[in-house]
Amino acid sequence: SVIPAETDVAIIGAGPAGLFAAFQCAMLRLRCVLIDVLPEVGGQCAALYPEKPIYDIPACPAVEGAELIANLERQIAPFDIPRLLRHRVEGLSGQRGDFSLTTDKGAHLHAKAVIIAAGAGAFGPNRPPLDGLGAYEESGAVQYYVRRKADFQNKRIVIAGGGDSALDWALSLKDTAAKLYLVHRRDRFRGAPESLRQLDEAVAAGQIEKVVPYQLHGLQGANGALTGVDVIDMDGATRTLEADVLLPFFGLATDLGPVARWGMDTQRSTIPVTPSSCETSLAGIFAIGDVATYPGKLKLILQGFSEAAMAAHAIHPIIYPEQALHFEYSTSKGVPAA
Ligand code: FAD
Repeated sequence: SVIPAETDVAIIGAGPAGLFAAFQCAMLRLRCVLIDVLPEVGGQCAALYPEKPIYDIPACPAVEGAELIANLERQIAPFDIPRLLRHRVEGLSGQRGDFSLTTDKGAHLHAKAVIIAAGAGAFGPNRPPLDGLGAYEESGAVQYYVRRKADFQNKRIVIAGGGDSALDWALSLKDTAAKLYLVHRRDRFRGAPESLRQLDEAVAAGQIEKVVPYQLHGLQGANGALTGVDVIDMDGATRTLEADVLLPFFGLATDLGPVARWGMDTQRSTIPVTPSSCETSLAGIFAIGDVATYPGKLKLILQGFSEAAMAAHAIHPIIYPEQALHFEYSTSKGVPAA
């Protein structure tokens, strides 16, 4: 729908937290606009792991990243919420009740309140320092996200890393790959107990070969076609693993980007908020999801959902100062027909 020049709530970031904030705002009759620099909504779920199952969304025993986003889209569809995609919010100024936002493409928007749901900000993968890496990244021989499992059918794969992503993808790709190596600099992996159990099982069955304690050392091949990955142990002994693909999972490099310049308190790549309202140190500006922090914060989607509800309720008096907000369940309010 058409992007208005002014709205009640500008939501910066259309990841799961931003999308659900749009629903919560709409249910409280707060007009909002969703803004995201990416060409599609969904944040990390859509961009980084559309096919990875998520197991800890309440009432969804298993849901893939893309499916979760499609469901959030269905939930807000009845409200026809305007969205400004491919726009990075660069400037944010003003005060409670009267904010002004500008984007890198020159769009301007006035809003009475702002919800920052910027997640990891301008997120990107931590890249291993290997000679000639660029050519292999370009050809797709080195990838940091698994967008389509089918691309790895019968490939010899080296997965590097010791955290959840490395573990989850090793387990998920073990039946797709022709050969799967899991390289880590220690013999201990960080992951859910069940994943660790499955790893032991897959190693015992010969589906995954653990290469520990080793680190990535070099890439072999030419013109972007990978033939092997060199690894090195703590004593300097090297080994070459024959491989077509390298998937390094060394975490996300987070960078708040323009958000860091908007004047609210920040703490490394996060924004401290009052937990009961999600308000930042600047009145009228709220932060939810991965970007928000407070004691005990869990960077989980379910936490972002709850924060979205708290922020929307805290914003209501800014938009409707005369009107007391009587708490209601969604059933009594109902949603418009889609
Ligand atoms: P994000 O999803 O990061 O979305 C933020 C959005 O803001 C992005 O789309 C970004 O483009 C946009 N943005 C940022 N700055 C600007 C700006 N200035 N202007 C415009 N747009 C901007 N969580 C779970 O609960 N369960 C899991 O099983 C799980 N598995 C995961 C697996 C992987 C591999 C990864 C990487 C994460 C996983 N997570 C999981 C974490 C989960 O994805 C995050 O907690 C969640 O995406 C955070 O949502 P968000 O909306 O706060 O931010």
